[in-house]
Amino acid sequence: MNEALRHAMAPVLRDLRAAGITAPRIENDDWTGDPGQPSAMMWSRHGNGAGVSVLLSEPEWERVASAADQVQDWVIEELWGRAPTNWPRCPRHPDNHPMAAICRDEVAVWACPADGVAVCEIGKLSVPPESPATEWADRMALNKDRDRARTAVPDPDLCCRLSE
Ligand SMILES: [Zn+2]
Repeated sequence: MNEALRHAMAPVLRDLRAAGITAPRIENDDWTGDPGQPSAMMWSRHGNGAGVSVLLSEPEWERVASAADQVQDWVIEELWGRAPTNWPRCPRHPDNHPMAAICRDEVAVWACPADGVAVCEIGKLSVPPESPATEWADRMALNKDRDRARTAVPDPDLCCRLSE
């Protein structure tokens, strides 16, 4: 696979691992045929396939955000019907939407799509300490509330309840 594409995908694949989501199998299939836009295919064990590509004309942080956005689309498709699809869950609105991959000050970040607040650099979503990286989707389906307590940023409502 193209080095620039591999490099751009590494941070979001790290975040996938941190969430215990099985990463896609990357197939070395340069479907764009464009040397300025290296590409590959992502496949799941369920046969869910999607293309991913980056533009070499873009700076590295934009390639990271773009790759994260494309991998996120694949993940949402992959979780559809099996688990809540809002990955990575917005800690500010955990029931409403996933975060969006954007660029802020030349850094690729996960941000709330509603208020634009940057939550975390892409590739640095924290690993919940008590959570083994297995079958995240099954856990999500079994116990949504417990999983919400594991999000990277403390839920303000939960903190309020605990301090009362
Ligand atoms: Zn939000």
